[in-house]
Amino acid sequence: MTTTAPRLPSTRPVGPLLAGLTDRLPALRALYEDLHAHPELSFQEFRTAGIAAALLREQGWEVTEGVGGTGVVGVLANGEGPVVLLRADMDALPVREETGLPYASTTTATDPDGNEVPVMHACGHDMHVACLLGATAQLAATRARWRGTVVAVFQPAEEVGGAPAMIEDGFADRFPRADICLGQHVAAAPVGFVGTRPGPLMAASDSLKVRLFGRGGHGSMPETAVDPVVMAAAIVMRLQTVVAREVAAAQTAVVTVGSLHAGTKENIIPDTADLRINIRSTTPSVRERVLRAVERIIRAEAAASGAPKDPEIVPLTSFPVTVNDHDATRAVHTALSAALGEGHVFTLPSTLTGSEDFGTFGTALDVPSVFWHFGGADPALYRDIDPADLLENGLPDTVPANHSPHFAPVPDPTLEIGVTALLAAAAHWLGPEADDE
Ligand code: ZN
Ligand code: ZN
Repeated sequence: MTTTAPRLPSTRPVGPLLAGLTDRLPALRALYEDLHAHPELSFQEFRTAGIAAALLREQGWEVTEGVGGTGVVGVLANGEGPVVLLRADMDALPVREETGLPYASTTTATDPDGNEVPVMHACGHDMHVACLLGATAQLAATRARWRGTVVAVFQPAEEVGGAPAMIEDGFADRFPRADICLGQHVAAAPVGFVGTRPGPLMAASDSLKVRLFGRGGHGSMPETAVDPVVMAAAIVMRLQTVVAREVAAAQTAVVTVGSLHAGTKENIIPDTADLRINIRSTTPSVRERVLRAVERIIRAEAAASGAPKDPEIVPLTSFPVTVNDHDATRAVHTALSAALGEGHVFTLPSTLTGSEDFGTFGTALDVPSVFWHFGGADPALYRDIDPADLLENGLPDTVPANHSPHFAPVPDPTLEIGVTALLAAAAHWLGPEADDE
């Protein structure tokens, strides 16, 4: 197969809101590299929020800080017209960066459990912050070419579901009520590739913390103990049957035990074992069914092991299904195709198993929302892969994906595409006249 990784065409129509963007790109790249080198964990985005607030003020936006923790909201009122909400998330992950980039992170931080952990922008939220600050700069500089109000949201803690914290902090009443919520996520697809779909775009995600109780003892005398390690092992294996045996073939769900801790030494049977489980689902009924099955298996395996005490099952985070409004998604698809070029914007064939809390804003405000993914991967990694294959088979395992220590979007032209996509989508509502150009 030939090289088909799409590039941003140099001949794309440049809308009025894009005027001067090319000159802004070097500063935007420097900002991106700075954010990447200084990642912050969820709800600890003080530096990032400070940078966003300072730049927004410099650009002429009305700024409110400390919304829902570290959240920043910029408002630019520019006459009668629709209110458009643009959202970027700011947090990074406890991952040790292995990209080898000159601006790679060497940062560590203290996590909520008090552990010192490495921190990396392994999900690309630094790209989202830089792109939104590029878009806000463009909107401020091209005020004569559009009408309405833009609410720029820099949200904390997407990885742990931070959007509800902003809502609970009075977001809906404190800021102009949006008519449309727009957001985007950088992905391991080739740079230039944009994908979205009407209806359910991303899965619901539920995380559980589980403590299993056994009875500790000497490793040489297991008959005097109840071994929580064996109990945990049985649970981990049995949980694999939930999706295989209890979810219909046409439905989608994922059950992952991402963390399993027990014991300190090979000849001591510990008292407890701790598991952390993540569940993805794409419909409420499958979600209910899988959650029920997971709990049933944990309790039944503990009973089968003769556990002296029932397991503790504590819900951690819960993300709803991300649902794209049908009409608004069609409009955004058309706008992005016009701005980025035909053949760059694709309708994803099915709901992604990744999750997002972006939908919280549209749900809380009771207005439509649209979310899309844009590629950031080096096209060289896709030399032998046709984009059509991505739609059918998903991302190849040869390209480091989000949350990988090797995840490394190429800043150029990903930043330009991300800014262009935000502005093109927003312009559908803010309506610059075509003959304004
Ligand atoms: Zn993530
Ligand atoms: Zn993310």
